[in-house]
Amino acid sequence: MADSPLPAPGGALSVLREVFGYDSFRGHQQEVIDHVCAGGDALVLMPTGGGKSLCYQIPALVRPGTGVVISPLIALMQDQVDALTALGVRAGFLNSTQDRASRRAVEEAFTRGDLDLLYLAPEALRSEATMGLLDRGRLALFAIDEAHCVSQWGHDFRPDYLALSVLHQRWPQVPRIALTATATEATRAEIATRLDLTDARQVVSSFDRPNITYRIVPKQEPRKQLLALVSTEHAGDAGIVYCLSRASVEQTAEFLSANGIAALPYHAGLDPVTRARHQSRFLREDGLIMVATIAFGMGIDKPDVRFVAHLDLPKSIEGYYQETGRAGRDGLAATAWLAYGLADVVQQRSLIEGSEGDLAHRRRLSAHLDAMLALCETVECRRVNLLAYFGQQSAPCGNCDTCLEPPQSWDGTVAAQKLLSTIWRLHRERGQSFGAGQAIDILLGKRTDKVTRHRHDQLSVFGVGAELADREWRAVVRQTLAQGLLAVQGEYGTLALTAASDDVLAGRRQVMMRREPERTASRARSRAGRAGEVAAELPERARPAFDQLRAWRAATARESGVPAYVIFHDATLRQIAITRPGTLEELSAISGVGQAKLARYGEQILGELTALDRAG
Ligand code: ADP
Ligand code: ZN
Repeated sequence: MADSPLPAPGGALSVLREVFGYDSFRGHQQEVIDHVCAGGDALVLMPTGGGKSLCYQIPALVRPGTGVVISPLIALMQDQVDALTALGVRAGFLNSTQDRASRRAVEEAFTRGDLDLLYLAPEALRSEATMGLLDRGRLALFAIDEAHCVSQWGHDFRPDYLALSVLHQRWPQVPRIALTATATEATRAEIATRLDLTDARQVVSSFDRPNITYRIVPKQEPRKQLLALVSTEHAGDAGIVYCLSRASVEQTAEFLSANGIAALPYHAGLDPVTRARHQSRFLREDGLIMVATIAFGMGIDKPDVRFVAHLDLPKSIEGYYQETGRAGRDGLAATAWLAYGLADVVQQRSLIEGSEGDLAHRRRLSAHLDAMLALCETVECRRVNLLAYFGQQSAPCGNCDTCLEPPQSWDGTVAAQKLLSTIWRLHRERGQSFGAGQAIDILLGKRTDKVTRHRHDQLSVFGVGAELADREWRAVVRQTLAQGLLAVQGEYGTLALTAASDDVLAGRRQVMMRREPERTASRARSRAGRAGEVAAELPERARPAFDQLRAWRAATARESGVPAYVIFHDATLRQIAITRPGTLEELSAISGVGQAKLARYGEQILGELTALDRAG
């Protein structure tokens, strides 16, 4: 904890510049910050990486007293506090991981009025001792982070979050700001009611993340495809790879490591110590890949994650968007890559089929999956589709796979009819159910053991589908399933007709399908997004300086035991490497260099640059 209070006069903008070292506010930040500084309540919806933290950190610095931040992510509180301390902000936390002595120190700092920000776990507010403590200090505001926890059914933290309505009753004059990246109308309404924020200013920012390139590719050999992505486009980059099962997390991490790429596994089956160690290495080291189940990532604010890859289909667009949003928080170009295939659709559909819960629950799961599948199969801009899901209109983005390499759509009606009548005949003439593989073998006229054993070569549809290759038929089955024209049944994932199948068979319904574009050997690298916020590729001449600064940062971070990005973000180092400041004043003009960091690291940075000049 630094002991001199920060200069607050001049208000929010000077805090942004002097403490955080940024030039200007982003999006709706200023509106929210001004409103909260003036004592108003706010409910803020911004995408992951949108810049929510400043919305409460700056008012906490501008207003007298301490800003109290409620966050469920206790494993990350230490890093958050370290990052603030590096900026010269007086911050502390209270949670169950702490020993008595450090708890006491934080409590005393708070009551003395020596804290700008105090992080608390939500359960803390159920203890009268904590409430009493808050009474003894001066409160600048309450920030309720991850506010969707109050609404999500079955969420671990829900009971604690529901209890947060006491804040308003007990301290009616203290402004409250609730923040979330979960965007749907229903969630927003529920947060407002549950937290007693119906009169609060609601600020919904654009959910677009223009620097992320969205790509969804047909799944063939997912691990090899992933390896190709990493080694050709993201060598040396930090990234997150999501898999559905623990086993596939382990196998994928091993596969990458065996191929010389530093990767660590993370899933709920690992013991807590290993998990914490892997998370800490991912945050602290440069260029590490975390292979994880979706248990990983909430609240991880590592800014330089350059790609997020999904090897399995996410269950909903909300999940997909939150996970992919962890890429490129620093605003530099990043990739969201998903490999998706027939087996994913079959698996997810039969999971829903076999899930516990009532019909309404299964319908909800189905609707989520349908929206996800529509995103995968669209021939239009992925971003337009994603933003429309969150109720926001946009124009084709120029920075997703369908914009960059437009797929064709083709009339798949006849193909769908052939497939559906194969299923119909199996069922009607033989009383049998089979999976996609057998149906495709029949259509292709393959006399496999299984085909001859069941005498499926006698069916009238045997061999009627020779015009398409096996791979193309799999795409037809996948898209027919995705469009709900075919269903998956039982634990073996056999295919069955649906009410909508009849319309196709009777020729009343046309079925349009997506044809994957021919991949050129060297894929055109994606261009920057619309926002123009994305830095260009690092010029070759700046590379040695950037590498040198990164090495300096790694050593400095290790020495002080903090993640590298707490020292400086990549974006800041990049700009230093390009502009080569020669004085402290020039250095302070660079985004991300605030007063505390200038004082602490300024001379060292200039020294690194001079050393480089002498060497070159
Ligand atoms: P969120 O909590 O919404 O996911 P963060 O608050 O972590 O996002 O912000 C994302 C990144 O953007 C952080 O690295 C932060 O330092 C940076 N950032 C936020 N606001 C600004 C700004 N006005 N100018 C420059 N960078 C910013
Ligand atoms: Zn697009």
